[in-house]
Amino acid sequence: MTTTTIQKPLGNSGQTIQQLLRGTDFDNILTCVHCGLCLDNCPTYRELHDEKESPRGRLYLMRGLYDGELDLTEEIKGSLDRCLGCRACETACPSGVPYGELLEKARGVIHETSSQGVIEQTLRTVLLKGLFRSTFLLSTASKLLKLYALTGLPKLITNTALGKFLPKSFVFQQHLLPDCSGRSFKQQHAHDDLQAVAGTKSLGRVGLFTGCVMDVSEAAVHESTVRLLRAIGYDVVVPEEQGCCGALHVHSGDRITARELAETNRQAFAEHNFDLVVTNAAGCSAQLKDYHHLFPKSDPGHNKDWKGLSSKIVDILELLSRHPEEVTQLSWRQDEDVVLYDAPCHLMHAQKIDANPRQLVNSLPGVQLVPLTESNWCCGSAGIYNLLQPELAGDVLKRKIDSVRETLEANPKATTLVTGNPGCLYQIRAGIREAKLPLRVIHPAVYLAERLQG
Ligand code: SF4
Ligand code: SF4
Repeated sequence: MTTTTIQKPLGNSGQTIQQLLRGTDFDNILTCVHCGLCLDNCPTYRELHDEKESPRGRLYLMRGLYDGELDLTEEIKGSLDRCLGCRACETACPSGVPYGELLEKARGVIHETSSQGVIEQTLRTVLLKGLFRSTFLLSTASKLLKLYALTGLPKLITNTALGKFLPKSFVFQQHLLPDCSGRSFKQQHAHDDLQAVAGTKSLGRVGLFTGCVMDVSEAAVHESTVRLLRAIGYDVVVPEEQGCCGALHVHSGDRITARELAETNRQAFAEHNFDLVVTNAAGCSAQLKDYHHLFPKSDPGHNKDWKGLSSKIVDILELLSRHPEEVTQLSWRQDEDVVLYDAPCHLMHAQKIDANPRQLVNSLPGVQLVPLTESNWCCGSAGIYNLLQPELAGDVLKRKIDSVRETLEANPKATTLVTGNPGCLYQIRAGIREAKLPLRVIHPAVYLAERLQG
């Protein structure tokens, strides 16, 4: 590691890093009492055994920047970059330190006041400012990846000796490839009449948030979500004007693009005046609920009605759990099955939703839910972390796959692992494919819809 100072004297707004942090409602950092109770819950601390790679260490570094006692160095930036943003430290913290919010704000200020390397800058431009903001580009990429999958090359690379001659990271990326639909779900269904199933008691009218990558891949997740909502009594609308939630941008410090995306989504859902806005991606719902953090008091967007959107955001599993009577009355398959459950960090740690999804899956007739050992630990996906920090992400994933193997050995009848966030789904599925474990990985909504009869 190097201690080269990388802070520009002034950020784009003409302010120093300390001034920017002080203008970002950053004083929550003072609530950390340095007790260290969060350390043993931090995946990067567990892997690297270094205080600077722990929540307490990172908070100390952020505090140093905030107080003006530290200059921004490569070492500090590296430590903050290596944080997964999993927020397991928040769950462990008795003082209620809002670590995720502080990290995102610090990354935003660092992004504004430091220069980036060529790879980082290219990734940011191509992925964050280009691909994830454009439905056309996402649909095109999805079509191309679908064609690529049809050539059979990914399977050839992963299932034959050919993979041994190729870089390991490239082979792993073949496992990571999503199931691309080649078209945008929101464009396909924007004008559909998705009314509640006839005969059900009306529960209201909801908007479906479709996301960016999920809008053009894993179509079964959105299809299953719509089917479940209609089955219990909701009318569903899929607004075409919505876009990426901006979580990937926020996690990597690009708060300016994230603000644009927040405004796009606020308008897209506000104009319909839905009873609720349903998501099936834990990372997206956590971000949609936190939009107000993006706008400090000094920002013109601060006074917009962010609460109007965030108060309506609900994860599909949480919503189904609110209607036990309607869920029980549905016609479910009765055959026996054993399912493993993995808790997405942004559902469990960021939104504190954990017991309800587990109880919901476990309540299905014939289904036994087995908690995965260390289900609450990050899988290493963390947005595009697995692309930017492949080595550390690989170590974190290895631990997750070891847990899956151990749980599977104790429960050999398990057929399926369910997890409610696309990043986790891609990452854990890739790890399971690589390890050749006899388990499929799907979204819980897909699992529920599979068990639904009629
Ligand atoms: S973040 Fe919370 S748990 Fe961790 S050291 Fe600070 S006060 Fe203690
Ligand atoms: S967010 Fe996760 S990786 Fe980052 S400090 Fe907290 S526990 Fe560690």
